[in-house]
Amino acid sequence: MRQFSKVLIANRGEIALRVLRACQEMGIKTVAVHSTADADLMHVRLADESVCIGPPAAKDSYLKMSTIISAADITGADAIHPGFGFLSENPTFAAMVEEHGINFIGPKPEHISMMGDKITAKQTMIALGVPVVPGSEGSIDTDDDALNTANKIGYPVIIKATSGGGGKGMKVAFSDKELVQSFRMAKSEAKANFGNDQVYMERYLRRPRHIEIQVLADQHGNVVHLGERDCSLQRRHQKVFEEAPSPALAVELRDQLGERVTLALKNMGYRGVGTLEFLYEDGEFFFMEMNTRIQVEHPVTEMITGIDLIKEQIRVAAGEHLGYTQSDIKFNGHAIECRVNAEDPKTFIPSPGKIVNYLAPGGLGVRVDSHVYPGYTVPPYYDSMIAKLIVHGRTRAECLSRLERALKEYVVDGIKTTLPLHQKLIKNPDIIEGRYDIHWLEKNLSEEEPNA
Ligand code: ADP
Repeated sequence: MRQFSKVLIANRGEIALRVLRACQEMGIKTVAVHSTADADLMHVRLADESVCIGPPAAKDSYLKMSTIISAADITGADAIHPGFGFLSENPTFAAMVEEHGINFIGPKPEHISMMGDKITAKQTMIALGVPVVPGSEGSIDTDDDALNTANKIGYPVIIKATSGGGGKGMKVAFSDKELVQSFRMAKSEAKANFGNDQVYMERYLRRPRHIEIQVLADQHGNVVHLGERDCSLQRRHQKVFEEAPSPALAVELRDQLGERVTLALKNMGYRGVGTLEFLYEDGEFFFMEMNTRIQVEHPVTEMITGIDLIKEQIRVAAGEHLGYTQSDIKFNGHAIECRVNAEDPKTFIPSPGKIVNYLAPGGLGVRVDSHVYPGYTVPPYYDSMIAKLIVHGRTRAECLSRLERALKEYVVDGIKTTLPLHQKLIKNPDIIEGRYDIHWLEKNLSEEEPNA
């Protein structure tokens, strides 16, 4: 069996702990790297070795490629797991790691760059026979270009950054009048957030669901899909609550799309884990983008397939064969994930600080992926997610009642969290019946009484 002996985890928080747990179960030694603000992180305490890589600001620590590679060199790590965010979709980093004779636990650098440029990603998928959201063929560079394309596609349209991510830099326009301003704003936001002002345009769908397909590929041409996740509950294009399977998708449709996607990735020669994100409306799928990394919401897939995606990711990166085929993958029951953020549940203003009391829920079918503990101080420098509550049930109804029970048990004192939002969400009849699209959450939040 080919296996790494020591993995450096180039991330922080919950996902760093998740990777550490997988490594420990596989008998692989671990190296934690952390900023000065993160010396108290759970995975830093549990890792075999740890290296401080710089001050709190991510650009001086978690994004410092040369420092991270030096840390791997000094500690003798033979692989780097990038987690999500930070350097996980940076093709320069992936290439640098491999040039230093270290394994990058992720896809080939060329596939990261191909999918990181959303125009190229869409063109690649069109060529591979995957349906995409109708839109501009390439980038939109001038006001005239924007007007002509919008009139060809038909309003409303959405303008998106070619190198975008995290729901940032997207602007919707409903008329010629709004368009020029939206186009210019999207361009300047793209420049400010991603250092690249290139944008493209798509038809803006009115009531789609966000449905994504999880894939897993080894380095020997074996590719499987692990079904879909429905991530339609979003705020500002960011996911809040995810479930699998989708309450809106027939099994036959999932199998058809899964088959198409698997074939496309086989033809690409893709390796590792990946997610293809689609909008789904009136029985039709439209590809939006592909994430070439593990995703926050991967546990819902793990809960219904019984497959540990991080272990699989590490195993295939070491050159192992998948060892199973599509027909071996069975879907069992239903899973839902709630993202718990250190934020005010009404204003969504971040609420860092000390957690004075903490008690995570438990019991059959309840999983909490979190790095926090009583007395832990949430630093103000990073993403506000502090935990993921994932619940599994034999049916969606059982899953929902278990989630309601688990949410009641969950205690986080000292900071504000989004737990009350989730408690309210799961009592809503639309959520209970699975009737929601990507605009549902924002619409329902804005309809609430300001002081309710
Ligand atoms: P990012 O990489 O920033 O996450 P995506 O392209 O994945 O951007 O889009 C994020 C979200 O924005 C989607 O899940 C969806 O809610 C919304 N969105 C993107 N494209 C469209 C579209 N053409 N029509 C309607 N909503 C869209």
